[in-house]
Amino acid sequence: MCGIIAYTGKSNATGILLKGLKTLEYRGYDSAGIAVFNDDKSKIIKNAGRVEKLANACKNIVSGSGIGHTRWATHGEVNDTNSHPHKFGRVTLVHNGIIENYKELAQEFDLNNSLISQTDSEIAAGVINSFFDTDPYSAIINAVSKFKGTYALAIMFDGIKDTVFAVRSVSPIVICKGDDGTYLSSDIIALGEYCKRYFVLDENTIAVLKPDGVKAFDFKMNEAEVSLLDLDYHMVKAEKNGYPFFMEKEIAEQPKVIENALKSRINNNLPDFSYDDIDDSFFDNINKISFIACGTAMHACLIGKELINFMARIPCDVFLASEYMYSNPVIDKGTLIICISQSGETIDTLEALKFAKRSGAKSLSIINVKNSSIARESDRVIYTNAGTEIAVASTKAYTTQVAVLYLICAKLAELKGKLSKSEIVKFITELQKIPEAVKSVLDRKEEIH
Ligand code: GLU
Repeated sequence: MCGIIAYTGKSNATGILLKGLKTLEYRGYDSAGIAVFNDDKSKIIKNAGRVEKLANACKNIVSGSGIGHTRWATHGEVNDTNSHPHKFGRVTLVHNGIIENYKELAQEFDLNNSLISQTDSEIAAGVINSFFDTDPYSAIINAVSKFKGTYALAIMFDGIKDTVFAVRSVSPIVICKGDDGTYLSSDIIALGEYCKRYFVLDENTIAVLKPDGVKAFDFKMNEAEVSLLDLDYHMVKAEKNGYPFFMEKEIAEQPKVIENALKSRINNNLPDFSYDDIDDSFFDNINKISFIACGTAMHACLIGKELINFMARIPCDVFLASEYMYSNPVIDKGTLIICISQSGETIDTLEALKFAKRSGAKSLSIINVKNSSIARESDRVIYTNAGTEIAVASTKAYTTQVAVLYLICAKLAELKGKLSKSEIVKFITELQKIPEAVKSVLDRKEEIH
């Protein structure tokens, strides 16, 4: 859940990094920190606790480039020392993810006597530093070849001023070039005000951010092509629009977003996924559906399972994504995997999806954030288009997921011949009344309150 931000350019990095961390706060965190170049060496300011506290400690710090992090501790308690960035030798980095073999690496590279934190991330910095002489690229490539686990890393090297390197496995990184410099984040929401287009850093690729632009290289040091994506302004505009809390605003948005999720997929009162480029043949020969998700999205899956079992008579099961690979699931060509994730970046769901695909399953995902990792990995995607959901307790993201599941269920019942055309039309006609029904409940909010 942690957040990463990086910047190099003409503006003051400190302000940009702090603002980015503020935007990323909604993901939840326990500590925050930044590192900026002070001449050609990194200077780190970090603390357990809020970004506000960090901002107070950063007053008067001016620099053209740096990296920032909100931490969600996995290794080591929540304290100032374990907060990111971490510095080892000439390497300073922020890390999102888990380096699973951190203990073995500390031993292999003889780091134990030099470590000051309890984190896996400091060991990652130590391994990169062990490989670093003058060439940052080979230091990164050699180091990550030793890592087992998940990581998004933004890295600064003392002596290589105003340059930020990035590399990732599973955990996301997005990058853009703006008017005043080059930006990186773990979440596109933090880059929204700086650019119109961005790219997702591929795995096994190193990005090099400089004030005048960014280049990406594969691990053989060939320049890598990047595919630029258009920013989805609905997803990066996070304003409360007069509501006291994001959650209240998001609850109130439900009639509209449910209506939108439904109407683009209904044609003549029948479910129709041509809007999503999914024709009926995609559902041919499906004899089992496995839903995969975490948290709230998994509860949407439970509804999907009941509906589809009941109406379309297709056997369904629901897996908590983190358990999927370990449950020795039966997967064959007749298996359809349906992954549900608001962000499209839920790492356990992404990993389970990749596992199912390797075993021959077809995949469909129900996602809110365009071009997110799970969306890109799936054979087909249905976007819920609910707009940014900032509140951690899910509302509109969940109800639009459920709305889409009702449509999928109707489509499957139609294709499997379990409901007649007139029954489907009746079902869809009723479904279209849901936004109004939700509104009539929300209109009573004072009374309910
Ligand atoms: N594993 C790292 C730590 O515990 C990074 C956690 C995160 O992604 O915030 O510090």
